[in-house]
Amino acid sequence: MNYDLFFTNALSRLKDEQRYRVFADLERLAGRFPHAIWHSPDGRREVVIWCSNDYLGMGQHPKVIGAMSETAERLGAGAGGTRNIAGTNHPLVELEHELGDLHRKQSALVFTSGYVSNQTGIATIARLIPECLILSDELNHNSIIEGVRHSGCEKQVWRHNDVNHLEQMLQRAPQDRSKIIVFETVYSMDGDVAPIGRICDLAEHYGAMTYADEVHAVGMYGARGAGMAERHGVMDRIDVLEGTLAKAFGCIGGYIAGSTALIDAVRSYAPGFIFTTALPPPICAAATAAIRHLKVSNWERERHQERARRVKALLTAAALPVMPSDTHIVPILIGDPERCKAASDMLLAEHGIYIQPINYPTVPRGTERLRITPSPYHNDALVQALAGALVNVWARLDLAPRRRAAAAG
Ligand SMILES: *Cc1c(COP(=O)(O)O)cnc(C)c1O
Repeated sequence: MNYDLFFTNALSRLKDEQRYRVFADLERLAGRFPHAIWHSPDGRREVVIWCSNDYLGMGQHPKVIGAMSETAERLGAGAGGTRNIAGTNHPLVELEHELGDLHRKQSALVFTSGYVSNQTGIATIARLIPECLILSDELNHNSIIEGVRHSGCEKQVWRHNDVNHLEQMLQRAPQDRSKIIVFETVYSMDGDVAPIGRICDLAEHYGAMTYADEVHAVGMYGARGAGMAERHGVMDRIDVLEGTLAKAFGCIGGYIAGSTALIDAVRSYAPGFIFTTALPPPICAAATAAIRHLKVSNWERERHQERARRVKALLTAAALPVMPSDTHIVPILIGDPERCKAASDMLLAEHGIYIQPINYPTVPRGTERLRITPSPYHNDALVQALAGALVNVWARLDLAPRRRAAAAG
């Protein structure tokens, strides 16, 4: 039996559909964000990253790097065990306190990633509630879908951000049945925002719990960077807030925050929390430094929004098909996987601009796009260069911007 044949066939299918993923080998340059070295097939080349989820450049902030290296010197590299067996290090305990305070919840629990926190968190919470019905937004992230699936509970999917559809489902469900509404506050591929207040109204009216993924909002929105729910003044109305330490906080790890009883139950029952090694002390200290900084510093948040507005304005003026977005995310529609990849390749090889193509299944077929994430450190010259390069690539690939944008309406 040629087992490798199964794998090469599977890869051929991806290649035929133009969705075989090629990673860019990068060396980010601390202190020079968003500049990086790209290890290209022809050797080292300096490029500008325009698609990083280190939204605020906190991964290179001196306070964050300082906390990480100082802690590594004092406590060493790894945690040395699972949370239960020798791995609960003091910086991790401090980090959990910091997160509880950030979200004004009784308790918080840290996982090795945001992905794991959704997957094992949602599965465990829903499984501990008898006869739980899960109501999930149709555009929820794969980690949420996996969490819902692993819970084994019944689920119903409501149309994206459609509170009327959600309400129909709540009405149809028996009044005394347990329900949990699961959604994201900011959807990262379109940059749109959930009607959080309306969802909370419905949850309260129909007696449902709420679970919100704030991964693309923590650090970036709200007076202390607690996210979109803080900004909308509804943080206390959401039962479980989930976030990441890997995007705006610039490190790695994920978490949930909620009531003492819920957090203690997840701590005690979630396999993805129990049977894995704890986050290393230097990572925890670095994440805490990033959170503390962004709790009091608004400079990054304000500059981030201003830069996003500037990029949208310039690209729109250049007749590029900027998709409408209410947030810091700037998607440019291409609508075809092959040309999306070609545009990305051209930008990198010829203009030194790195924007990874976003194809199916991350976004629906026919909505392939370049997803641009301006940061506080993308200055006017870089924005101008981006606009010029995109216009050049669009002309050469014969992408007709306005017509295509209208067609996808
Ligand atoms: C990235 C992402 C996650 C996973 O977070 P990681 O910390 O990167 O594992 C969860 N939810 C959403 C919506 C995401 O985009």
